[in-house]
Amino acid sequence: MDFIYFDYAATTPVDQRVVDAMLPFMTERFGNPNSLYALGRDAYRGLEDARERVAQAIGASRPDEIIFTGGGTEGDNAALIGIMARASDGPAHLVVSAYEHHAVLEPAHWLEKRGHAVSYLAPRADGHIHPEDLASVMRPDTKLVSVMHGNNEIGAVNDVAELARVAHEHGALMHTDAAQTLGKVPFDVDALGVDAATFSGHKIYGPKGVGVLYLRRNVKFEPMLKGGGQEFRKRSGTQNVAGAVGFAAALEIMVREMPAESERLARLRDRLILGVTTRLENTEPTAPGGERLPNIAPLLIKGVEGEAMLLQLDAQGIAVSTGSACSSGSLEPSHVLLACGVPKEVAHGSLRVSLGRFTTDADVDRFLEVFPPIVERLRAMSPVYARMFGSP
Ligand SMILES: *Cc1c(COP(=O)(O)O)cnc(C)c1O
Repeated sequence: MDFIYFDYAATTPVDQRVVDAMLPFMTERFGNPNSLYALGRDAYRGLEDARERVAQAIGASRPDEIIFTGGGTEGDNAALIGIMARASDGPAHLVVSAYEHHAVLEPAHWLEKRGHAVSYLAPRADGHIHPEDLASVMRPDTKLVSVMHGNNEIGAVNDVAELARVAHEHGALMHTDAAQTLGKVPFDVDALGVDAATFSGHKIYGPKGVGVLYLRRNVKFEPMLKGGGQEFRKRSGTQNVAGAVGFAAALEIMVREMPAESERLARLRDRLILGVTTRLENTEPTAPGGERLPNIAPLLIKGVEGEAMLLQLDAQGIAVSTGSACSSGSLEPSHVLLACGVPKEVAHGSLRVSLGRFTTDADVDRFLEVFPPIVERLRAMSPVYARMFGSP
């Protein structure tokens, strides 16, 4: 069956070149990188080579600032909990944005329950976190600011350099969740001025269950995983050598192909958004404005349920997402859209179409052919649409 994948922001297939780089480390080069004999030293060399290549790709000055993790969720948890645990003797203040991934929001809630104060900073209607707004919530006891680089639902890319400057001016450290931006927009730890950053392998055509936490040297950090002291005592556990090698290979491909690929994706994205909004009335891009990820087309299709559109598209072999609600299986509209000030009723009609390496013009054509009749059919049956706009 012709199956069209439009959910690259949820996960990506592993690139065959990445598979090829990983395979030897699952078979003949299988040693434990912490073993001292030749087989172990060989795995160690593979691991450390991967670490150096990741450091190089994100502008880290030392390889020991690269901590391999079990994915983006672990990196976010470790950054928030690990930094806050060592930032002060008693309770302190943490700032996160209100539209973070749950992997940041949940540890923030947990820290709040443990006695820390947390500010949840709302984005403006353009979908961005504004540095002036950050400045207005900073306190003398603020120890950490965590604002995502690119939002996974609406694709807004924040000015992390400016946000980091505000954080530092007030004596706080800066963490950013860059799972969505890595390899799609330039990422350099010094240019952005971040002290910590989280990345995930499966968003960059690498394997699932592997990620990187960048931790600038001298950042005080309490490891979540305690044990054998691997990863510079910051993340115990025998390293996923094949995963680390895959991450490095995936990242290098992303960086190398970024200029041409980002341009190609942005063109497809714009064609898709324009195609939908010209073919269907009462539709619009979500919280538009400012810098955007090239591969996410966030749409508001008023008076229709996102889940209904998703299932109808699935029946036609097209995979899309509604936003974050799917992860929790809840029917509440996404916290991201509500944080951006999208009214609840409108937020129900959210659809996130995300493009990637294997998306073609023909895929976009097919979507523009299949999608409008689906929406028209659903609207014809929708009391909500009739109430909002009269009969279709
Ligand atoms: C996917 C994602 C995560 C979680 O990464 P996993 O590797 O799936 O745990 C965190 N933050 C953002 C922005 C993401 O897109």
